Amino acid sequence: MRPWSAPEVPALPVTGPAVSLHDTATRSLRPTAPQGAARLYVCGITPYDATHIGHAATYVGFDLLNRAWRNAGHHVTYVQNVTDVDDPLLERAEKVHVDWRELAERETELFRQDMAALRVLPPQHYIGAVESIPLVIALIERLQERGAVYSVEDDLYFSVTADDAFGGVSGLSREEMVRIFPERGGDPDRDGKKDPLDCVLWRAERPGEPAWDSPFGPGRPGWHIECTAIALEHLGMGFDVQAGGSDLVFPHHEMCAGEAQVARPGVSFARVYAHAGMVGFDGEKMSKSRGNLVFVSALRNSDVDPMAIRLALLRHHYRDDWEWTDDQLWDAVDTLADWRRALALGHGAAAAPVVDQVLAALADDLDAPTAVAAVQRWVETTLGTDGLADTSDHEAAATLRALLDAALGLAL
Ligand code: ZN
Repeated sequence: MRPWSAPEVPALPVTGPAVSLHDTATRSLRPTAPQGAARLYVCGITPYDATHIGHAATYVGFDLLNRAWRNAGHHVTYVQNVTDVDDPLLERAEKVHVDWRELAERETELFRQDMAALRVLPPQHYIGAVESIPLVIALIERLQERGAVYSVEDDLYFSVTADDAFGGVSGLSREEMVRIFPERGGDPDRDGKKDPLDCVLWRAERPGEPAWDSPFGPGRPGWHIECTAIALEHLGMGFDVQAGGSDLVFPHHEMCAGEAQVARPGVSFARVYAHAGMVGFDGEKMSKSRGNLVFVSALRNSDVDPMAIRLALLRHHYRDDWEWTDDQLWDAVDTLADWRRALALGHGAAAAPVVDQVLAALADDLDAPTAVAAVQRWVETTLGTDGLADTSDHEAAATLRALLDAALGLAL
């Protein structure tokens, strides 16, 4: 699939520090130590309601990781999927009387435009579920060889007990997993399953649903196996970071890891599992089912500066759960006006310490709020909001512009 267009990213005069990231599996801050290119997988959207602020927060959050790695001198191989065939997409297509392919294409294109406007660096490999079906089939066959697949009627299931490390990503107890599973696409109560937590690998064709030929009969991939197959193909086992929203910890990332670790035993699927917090609106988690969504495209269509949307997101730590309010957006608009005023001076307070502070903050678990605060202090000192403008650094504006763009993705 075609990714979105890549923004130009300026080079920085210094190399940033090594990047540490909070790992869900070990519940600790872990140094990332990429060998060769840093390998990142961020789970993509199911294209039927793109792109709400919750999505944007996740992709902007992990864009900071991509940028921090680059600024630390690494090449980055970034992979993302698009779940362009799945139950929620098919249900929505039927509800609004649109062909599911047309809906998926339209929403994927909208997502690309939103990501480009927010200056999120695109993945090198942007892969749809439909185009990954041959990879999925090969991976299911590998799991069959490993004795980890069984059928219920014509559907194929993955045996979670085949992975000794199952549960290691989420750290949830069995009881918690069984409780959460049905809320996130699982079917613990289906008759014929060996374990309530086993997940679908191949869903046999149902009347009125799309299907593809396979050695297991016509059908379509389950959700988790799609990401497992794409990540193994383009990143391999033991890649650096598997990322997504915190609602993907279980079952999605747990199942992906389980499937991969059975197919290719001996190494963990990813070295670090990183998760972004959930964004609320009007007192509830922003979600399709609740209908309380704020769309990036709607804000853009109201002539909101995408950089203000990005700054409003950056003022929250990626791991925090928080609530979106319009006030935060208008405040970001005002802040950017101050920042642009300071940058327009050309000179300003010394830039080198700000570069160090911003790069250090982002290398420390992508701490964007601390980075933004460092920039804000530079702006206030430069503008002399205390009556004492500091304009001693004649290269300050050029340095700050490059820093804002390269580290925070804010092109001003
Ligand atoms: Zn995924």
